[in-house]
Amino acid sequence: MILIFLGPPAAGKGTQAKRLTEARGLVQLSTGDMLRAAIAAGTEIGRKAKIIMDRGDLVPDEVVIGIVSDRLDQPDTKRGVIFDGFPRTIPQADALDALLARKGSALDAVIEFQVDDEALIKRLETRVAETVKAGGQIREDDKPEVLRTRLEVYHRNTAPLIAHYRGKGKLRPVDGMASIGEVARQIDAILAALPKSGAK
Ligand code: AMP
Repeated sequence: MILIFLGPPAAGKGTQAKRLTEARGLVQLSTGDMLRAAIAAGTEIGRKAKIIMDRGDLVPDEVVIGIVSDRLDQPDTKRGVIFDGFPRTIPQADALDALLARKGSALDAVIEFQVDDEALIKRLETRVAETVKAGGQIREDDKPEVLRTRLEVYHRNTAPLIAHYRGKGKLRPVDGMASIGEVARQIDAILAALPKSGAK
């Protein structure tokens, strides 16, 4: 099964993706996590990406597509993949179609996490305050001013994917402002109703 989780930062995509990887044995493919791993490893890609990520902008399409292409070559992705934070632009969506076609696979559904921007910012501010209080470190791009840039970038570059996938009949909305359990229930209902396409 191939799924895309589409939605703004802090919409709960990662939480739901982790749950499904455990429940269904799917692989979570988060380009944000992969880029942060490249930064931690001190690679050339990581060094360049850090500057862009710290200000809340998007890393160039060709860099992200290259990372995803390499990851899809690893055998564990045959079990099925949840793309979390990818694609974020129309060219990335087109590249993903081509990568999947090359593997004889295809997209099953795009789960769209619908959220309210202001409520989202409040949710993130609470999360950041709790992390700081607990003595933890927050991500540079979770600072309120950078988060606002990330939301703008989402609306400008990524939100057009909603109409793109609706047009392909793949879009399935969920209420991202509901509780974690309720969002999980909505996703499970969507997956149960998907046609058994035979796509891996
Ligand atoms: P995330 O953890 O998904 O919120 O990603 C954190 C940051 O990594 C984003 O704000 C972007 O700078 C970068 N990033 C992650 N995924 C992508 C992508 N698919 N395309 C471009 N930039 C990305």
